[in-house]
Amino acid sequence: MTAAVAPQLIDRFGRTVDYLRISITDRCDFRCVYCMAEDMVFLPRAQILSLEEIYTLAQAFTELGVKKIRITGGEPLVRKGALELLQSIGRLHGLQELVLTTNGSQLESMAVALQAAGVKRVNISLDTLDADKFKAITRTGDLAQVIKGIKAATAAGFERIKLNAVILKNRNHQEVCDLVGFAVEQGVDISFIEEMPLGVVAQHNRSDAYYSSDSIKADLAQAFALLPSTATTGGPSKYFQIAGTDTRVGFISPHSTNFCSTCNRVRLTVEGRLLLCLGNEHSVDLKQVLRTSPGDGAALQQAIIEAMQIKPEKHEFNIHEQPVILRYMNMTGG
Ligand code: SAM
Ligand code: SF4
Repeated sequence: MTAAVAPQLIDRFGRTVDYLRISITDRCDFRCVYCMAEDMVFLPRAQILSLEEIYTLAQAFTELGVKKIRITGGEPLVRKGALELLQSIGRLHGLQELVLTTNGSQLESMAVALQAAGVKRVNISLDTLDADKFKAITRTGDLAQVIKGIKAATAAGFERIKLNAVILKNRNHQEVCDLVGFAVEQGVDISFIEEMPLGVVAQHNRSDAYYSSDSIKADLAQAFALLPSTATTGGPSKYFQIAGTDTRVGFISPHSTNFCSTCNRVRLTVEGRLLLCLGNEHSVDLKQVLRTSPGDGAALQQAIIEAMQIKPEKHEFNIHEQPVILRYMNMTGG
């Protein structure tokens, strides 16, 4: 850990931005039904940031006071050079926390090296413990491989591991207790996420598939004692401790609880677009700044500072309407 850099990214609502999520690829070895279309067309290489450009941007953000970076995608670990990129970002001055979100498919072979690269915490997506359902939700994923990845990660010595489960009514809502049981068994945390309307999906009606965090809590209360916890990871999750265990259960509820007033984050897409809000289209093209003024660190920092002025006050999700946000989650960097 290195000394903090004074925050310089403050928006119109007085919120300090000190957390950057970077999507390092839009590609993925899975095709989760809520995240991508089955016949997803991925971006051509010329349109995506090189690993060097991603590093330059990460460096600019840390120089402006960003303390935490999450690497995500797409599936970040399928991008060639991902490990080396994580190693260099992990050494940036001022960065206090490097974390990763992954579908777990590559963790069996990469967990040890990722931990050594300085990744502190890992979020692993796991929506079901049923192999057939897993295949149906991810279209191409293999549950056994992901379970091996989770076990490799728990053995590798990360500070914390969290499972992320997107819960859809009548698809996996019946499994919330089993998923928590599995998290307890593995000694990891788990967060339940309400589906967000990003991109058009064909397989289910998002309004019908909505299963609220309150319903999940009520289901869990039948099997576990949930103790309110003050724990926070600086994000929108509200945490509960499962009595008698180290496991915390978090709820990310964009529909039932609005968490925008404490938002401290921005997202960088692999196209180099800085998204100021997950649920709005406001963005700034940082790739253009990088490519028109190569090596001009001051111009890049100025563009980032100015971008804070268009960070919206709150997201505009409405699960009952057609999505206003047409980009998919794999483009956004969930
Ligand atoms: N491929 C990695 C993974 O699956 O963890 C990282 C990228 S993925 C886009 C990040 C997270 O976003 C995953 O936990 C995934 O379940 C979640 N996600 C994808 N589409 C979503 C949606 N429409 N609503 C809510 N969460 C979504
Ligand atoms: Fe891939 Fe993650 Fe999207 Fe699933 S949620 S398709 S694993 S990027």
